Amino acid sequence: MGRAEKVLELAKRRGFFWPSFEIYGGMAGFYDYGPLGTALRRNIAEVWRRKFVLEEGLLEIDTPDITPAVVFRASGHEEQFTDLMVTCTSCGAAWRVDELLEERGLPHEGLSAEEAERLLREAGIRCPSCGGELGGVRPFGLMFSLEVGAAGAKRAYLRPETAQGIFINFLNLYYQARSRIPFGAATIGKGYRNEISPRKGLIRLREFNMAEAEIFVDPETKDWPGFEALSGVPLRLVHGEAEEVLPVGEAVSRGIIGSRALGYFMAKTKLFLEEIGIPPEKIRFRKHRKEELAHYSSETWDAEIEISQGWLEVAGLSDRTDYDLRRHEEHSGERLRAFVQEGVSRVRRIRPKMGVLGPMFKSEAQEVARALRGMEPPPSGPIRVEVGGRSLEVPPEAYEVVEEEVHGRSFIPHVIEPSFGLDRILYCLLENSYYEREGTGYRVLALRPNVAPVKAVFLPLVAKDGLDSLAREWWRRALAEGIESYYDDSGSIGRRYARADEIGVPFAVTFDYRTKEDGTVTVRDRDSTQQVRIPLEELIPTLKDAIAGRRKIF
Ligand code: AMP
Repeated sequence: MGRAEKVLELAKRRGFFWPSFEIYGGMAGFYDYGPLGTALRRNIAEVWRRKFVLEEGLLEIDTPDITPAVVFRASGHEEQFTDLMVTCTSCGAAWRVDELLEERGLPHEGLSAEEAERLLREAGIRCPSCGGELGGVRPFGLMFSLEVGAAGAKRAYLRPETAQGIFINFLNLYYQARSRIPFGAATIGKGYRNEISPRKGLIRLREFNMAEAEIFVDPETKDWPGFEALSGVPLRLVHGEAEEVLPVGEAVSRGIIGSRALGYFMAKTKLFLEEIGIPPEKIRFRKHRKEELAHYSSETWDAEIEISQGWLEVAGLSDRTDYDLRRHEEHSGERLRAFVQEGVSRVRRIRPKMGVLGPMFKSEAQEVARALRGMEPPPSGPIRVEVGGRSLEVPPEAYEVVEEEVHGRSFIPHVIEPSFGLDRILYCLLENSYYEREGTGYRVLALRPNVAPVKAVFLPLVAKDGLDSLAREWWRRALAEGIESYYDDSGSIGRRYARADEIGVPFAVTFDYRTKEDGTVTVRDRDSTQQVRIPLEELIPTLKDAIAGRRKIF
């Protein structure tokens, strides 16, 4: 068994995660989390929350998974969030075209359906499953759609990213941030993508867990406070043909990374991944080539972790420019702008003429006016607006352009986005933590105490002579103090250590006959298997300090 298979086997057997709906034959791309996986994911998310939300003062929000279609029309996802797909004319299997081309070393990014189809034909690519002939290439929308309500049902989608929930709340959030730029908001929640070919395990799911932050910055500086403090953090950067390790400050000043805010959050990402226990040499950042960029991005770096299958993207760090806010301005008619009190500027605005719009657009006139107010005035001529999913032309006589002098500068903020996939991170962490003990071959997960789902196990050497009740009593005290732990008295002490090692329990506390004599217990370290004796009255504070990383016992 390869490393990945061993980790998947352990994950299922010990209750980290397993494929969903198995008694009905399963459904690709969906996984259940068991007790240990649920706890591990929550702990990883908590470290993320501390590093991003608390340390950076981001505004954490929670918005619906079900989102009206208009949001994703505005964001461009309805049209552009697609993968090219081809189906086999003989067995009906569906394939992602970019993967078929990539496997043959052919160009596979930024292709139109026609170009992709030509490349497939020229290379004579056939169905990988049955060898049948492949049909025509077409874009396949990756969002799950649904209808909300009974009468007059509204079309909606399950969100493919949590980000839009933040963008459409820009005004609420800007107000919460006391109208100061820069500021950021964050969401930890689910994302849904109807992936054409989900993979085994947690790497490509159709329902997955995201942790995303949207950092609103002034386009003139694209800065974030604290940049200097992290400017010495070394990052391994892959860009174009180059691969080099540079302090983030230098990468920004040489223009390899486009802004201080983007550089800052790349450094923060590295520190976060290290803090949960990913070895620094297994972390790198890869810059997207132009053809690879998502429709909303001007610059993207993938944070990648090395696992047995190679480098895997676990987070995307993008400069989304003013794309999203501008599009939501255009579609909602709300002005999504920030204001700084610097100098005097003149702004041009569209003022709709209701007297003309009314007779022209009747019941849609108000909506047309709203859309117009949110738009940048064109130099002249008619303006196209989107209302109710239709594109309408507004002639020049239906609006005027007014110029106003404002004290200060009003602008659409630009957005730097760190976007993390928690399932992938959890999987990479398990793969990187897994090892087999020399000699015995027993499996161990070297999870750090801060993320380990269980922090300690309480063990009587034998389940008699009052050692069991003593161990139970101290286990209960530990639980009351918030130490996630369990009690185990079944089987030999060696078996019990091995069971705990396999799920990454960092500390094992053993109660033996000496405990009854002098009130001390042994604490065993999972990785070195070293043991120390400590007095019972020091046990709980010692464990708490060790779990929080304030004290080393070993
Ligand atoms: P993206 O918006 O595509 O950059 O995705 C952000 C992050 O979400 C990625 O870096 C992945 O960690 C994660 N992710 C994206 N798609 C999936 C998926 N289908 N299954 C699991 N994680 C995903």
